[in-house]
Amino acid sequence: MTSTNQKVSNGVKYEAVIGLEIHAELNTKTKMFCSSLNDPDEKHPNINICPICMGHPGTLPTINEDAVKKVISTGLALGGDIAEFSQFDRKNYFYPDLPKGYQISQYEYPLVKGGMIGVAGRTIRITRIHLEEDTGRLIHDKSSQATLVDFNRAGIPLMELVTEPDIRTGEEVRLFGEALQRILRYVGASDADMEKGQMRVEVNISLRRSTQIPTRINADTISENPRLDQRESAPLGTKVEVKNINSFKFAADAVEFEIKRQSEILDRGEKVVQETRGWNEHKGESFSQRAKESAHDYRYFPEPDLPPLNISRDFVASLRAALPELPQAKQERFIREYGLEHGIAEILVREKHLADYFEAAISEAKQHDTETPEKPRRNLAKTIAALITGELLRLMREVVAEIRDIHITPENMGELADMIAEDKVSNLAAKQILAEMFASGEDPSDIAERLGLWQMSGATDIEDIARHIIKENPAALEDYKKGKTASLQFLMGQVMKESRGTANPKIVQEVLKKLLG
Ligand code: ADP
Ligand code: MG
Repeated sequence: MTSTNQKVSNGVKYEAVIGLEIHAELNTKTKMFCSSLNDPDEKHPNINICPICMGHPGTLPTINEDAVKKVISTGLALGGDIAEFSQFDRKNYFYPDLPKGYQISQYEYPLVKGGMIGVAGRTIRITRIHLEEDTGRLIHDKSSQATLVDFNRAGIPLMELVTEPDIRTGEEVRLFGEALQRILRYVGASDADMEKGQMRVEVNISLRRSTQIPTRINADTISENPRLDQRESAPLGTKVEVKNINSFKFAADAVEFEIKRQSEILDRGEKVVQETRGWNEHKGESFSQRAKESAHDYRYFPEPDLPPLNISRDFVASLRAALPELPQAKQERFIREYGLEHGIAEILVREKHLADYFEAAISEAKQHDTETPEKPRRNLAKTIAALITGELLRLMREVVAEIRDIHITPENMGELADMIAEDKVSNLAAKQILAEMFASGEDPSDIAERLGLWQMSGATDIEDIARHIIKENPAALEDYKKGKTASLQFLMGQVMKESRGTANPKIVQEVLKKLLG
């Protein structure tokens, strides 16, 4: 797609340039270099520790193969190149949460280089993904004025992903983070829960002068459009790194805040200081933490206690073959195969379990098996998608349930969709049935029976009610005869109410028109 190279109105003086460093704790059974448990839910401090992750002298680390696999799978899912040779390095620094006095990380030879994530029509390139170990957790206890250390987290496998400075807005930061989170979960590499600190985002941001903003850039656009390329390669400004951000929303907020702060500095003719800043979510402000350290401060050198990794192409191929269908591909397939709307498909693929549930319900629905032409099956899929993304998710939000925990089996969800498709229950009644199913797990037809919610389609039953309603509302009858069509709506409403929503509205209308003459 060639893009416009349009001039933009004067308003915009600076363009934000953003690169992310994202850490994710891998959901392995054990830690990165020892057999201590990796249990994010352990509440008692210093339970899952051993001499290795506590850095006792004379102990030796061993590489957790599962962690290596998870990073490689993530790299493959993102279209990156998997290293043939990879190596761990020591990153030396002192901090009380780091028992060994160094962190085992990767410097020159990360497991993955390259890859990308498409975000709002733009391509965000990934620089690298490497594997390292997490640190312990410091707890500042106000009452005793002491700082406590919990080493349960020390040595948990941690993946670090670095992007190129391809991001331009806070919104793109959020979308990138959400897309990566989804992929990590699909691949089964990380639970990536931001609130639990399983995924952590650091935002690097600088400003540069801009005379135009491209609406959409991707690699093709740039190669086809040299002027855009030139502007894209304009020198970068001094960057600031914002840390301690624990939601994508806050990451987006931090970007907006920094754009404002840095442009005010530049407007005054001053220079932005390269530094690390923290994020105060209560004030919605970043604050200076420390001057930026550089790589040589860490005195990186190859970890002498671990062998380098030679990663065979067969090993990589087997991991590639085991990759699941990824969210983007699944979304596109749902749109293609079931004719779902983009937004509905997007909601369904946010969580793999939800998408699986949707498809399980479709295959359970009776009409799927019978020789129905393509169209009714698609309608059924749409009905199920609507039930899930509408009423079911609403009910789940109320009690903070996950799809894995709910009582409604895919069979019963499929059956309810059948009942709607066959006009056996009205949409209104279906909602009520779904709420009952959600509460008890009961079969939908049993609920319809018990609560008398079967749709009334028999014209004689409806006629009885309609006659009764007309008799009770002589004024509405008069109005209708005078040509007030609104009174038909009123009478319809009364009949529906009297039938407690079980009357088929189409038949109610026919019957009323007939009776009113
Ligand atoms: P450092 O050496 O300071 O750690 P890196 O080159 O390793 O910097 O980049 C760290 C992160 O900062 C990457 O995500 C990168 O895309 C981003 N980045 C680098 N330079 C800039 C810049 N001028 N403005 C915004 N982000 C940048
Ligand atoms: Mg760096």
